Amino acid sequence: MASEHGQPNIVLAGFMAAGKTSVGRRIAALTGRPFIDMDALLEERLGAPIAEVFARGDEAAFRAAEADLCRALKTPAAAVIAAGGGAVLSAANRAALAGGGLLFCLECSPQEALRRLGSGNERPMLRGDPAGRLPALLAERAAAYAALPRHVDTTGLTVAQAAQQVLALYERDNRLRELPVACDGSAYTITFGEGSLRTLGARAAALGLRSPLAVITNDAVGPLYGEAVQAGLEKAGLHSVLCTVPDGEVYKTLDTVSALYDQVAAAGLERGGAIVALGGGVVGDMAGFVAATYLRGLALVQIPTTVLAMVDSSVGGKVGVDHARGKNLIGAFKQPAAVISDPALLVTLPDVERRSGLAEVIKHGVIGAPEVFAAFEEEGRPDLAGILPAAIQVKIDVVEEDPLERGRRLQLNLGHTFGHALELLSGYRLRHGEAVAIGMAAATRLSARLGLCQPALIDRIEAVLQQAGLPVRYADCEPQAVLAAMSSDKKRQGGRLRFVLPAHIGRVLVTDRASEADVLAVLSEIRSEGREP
Ligand code: NAD
Ligand code: MG
Repeated sequence: MASEHGQPNIVLAGFMAAGKTSVGRRIAALTGRPFIDMDALLEERLGAPIAEVFARGDEAAFRAAEADLCRALKTPAAAVIAAGGGAVLSAANRAALAGGGLLFCLECSPQEALRRLGSGNERPMLRGDPAGRLPALLAERAAAYAALPRHVDTTGLTVAQAAQQVLALYERDNRLRELPVACDGSAYTITFGEGSLRTLGARAAALGLRSPLAVITNDAVGPLYGEAVQAGLEKAGLHSVLCTVPDGEVYKTLDTVSALYDQVAAAGLERGGAIVALGGGVVGDMAGFVAATYLRGLALVQIPTTVLAMVDSSVGGKVGVDHARGKNLIGAFKQPAAVISDPALLVTLPDVERRSGLAEVIKHGVIGAPEVFAAFEEEGRPDLAGILPAAIQVKIDVVEEDPLERGRRLQLNLGHTFGHALELLSGYRLRHGEAVAIGMAAATRLSARLGLCQPALIDRIEAVLQQAGLPVRYADCEPQAVLAAMSSDKKRQGGRLRFVLPAHIGRVLVTDRASEADVLAVLSEIRSEGREP
């Protein structure tokens, strides 16, 4: 998309020898964009070759200069940037680079990397022993590289071919999608796409929001994106205050909300002002509750920053807090005025959170987006930017049909009846998404047992979950205990458990036909004894 700064940068990151510099130069030549080689710039700034800086034990100075440079590159400038191999190891660096453009991770096999490196003596991270050091270094960096939104494997490709692949992905992802939502008497738009955060100011102004606004976030997300959000509002002439809560589900309480009322009141928010929720589901639920109740309702803009918040909690208007008696017991329906869903913000999300969110993405695939499920079957862990819109659309379709959770919205509980019980029994050691993944495996087995789906669906769903890094077995508790925990779940209806079960990919059924014996049989099947789930 165009902006006053020009087109987004094309940022090539990834391991040494993956082709960042050669592919970057080629793309620059093909597109007429300027080429920035971060390592070359850093050598200039430090006045010495990188190997020398490392040799004299100055890695810290190098990393500090690198972080400065990343911050300088956080605005779109239509450049092609080759990031140093270690530049994206820090979440703050990833956030800065992703703020200015589209990030790509170039990859190649370890054998190919060694071949391309030749003797490799001048690579400080390999300390003169490429074959010995390379696999360990790759493993160390795997999580950081996995956080990057797009991956291009250059093994066996020419520079020209790799450049074409990068450009094709850039064309695919360099656009914003407007997903309209009509729900509970209100209509609003989810703006999805990398760089959509830069549209916040214009959107807020178009909505007629009035200063001051309150940006509610937590102490993990605020330091990463608070400044960009406030600067975006400021550019549209909107003043905001940043209200920060501590990070964690344990703080999703009325006490925290009460502290937020104090901050919002002190900031002088008036009718016509707005709450901007910047964070995952915890922040979104709480900030939404403040927006639903302060001054009997203020406008709400959701900026979801987790996979779960993008595909689930920011859509549909449920907001609220936990109570000692249970999760989400206090709440309201509060439809947002706008949602800005920018997957560039996911580059800092911890991998465990990303995987947990994938469970809900896969769930939406099973409920109503066969193409999303197919992407997982074909690619294992597909690029998120490509599949999130269809996964979000499933939630939109369901909540549009059933805004107040009287019927179809139940479908969204696929895997959750089993999942909630397992989550609870694990003392929340299992992440919500992990518990839902095990729950989906259980639901599919129950469906097959009741003759509601083909038995082959079990393997397909379990394979997809496992390839996404999610568990499909549980340990450490007895089937009877899980059944007991399920029976106290709030979804229990008329003495019988109600389940959402897959019929085939793209369609689920709600049934209360399962007997306790069926449920126990399934729980025994998916219990892993002794082994880790
Ligand atoms: P979360 O909000 O706790 O976020 C997970 C962790 O990631 C937190 O530590 C957070 O600080 C961190 N984080 C978030 N974004 C980040 C980013 N871009 N970079 C780095 N770190 C980041 O958890 P969640 O999974 O997003 O949400 C779970 C909550 O959502 C639960 O409270 C659940 O009840 C609620 N929920 C609500 C709905 C709804 O319809 N309202 C639906 C599903 C879930
Ligand atoms: Mg869920």
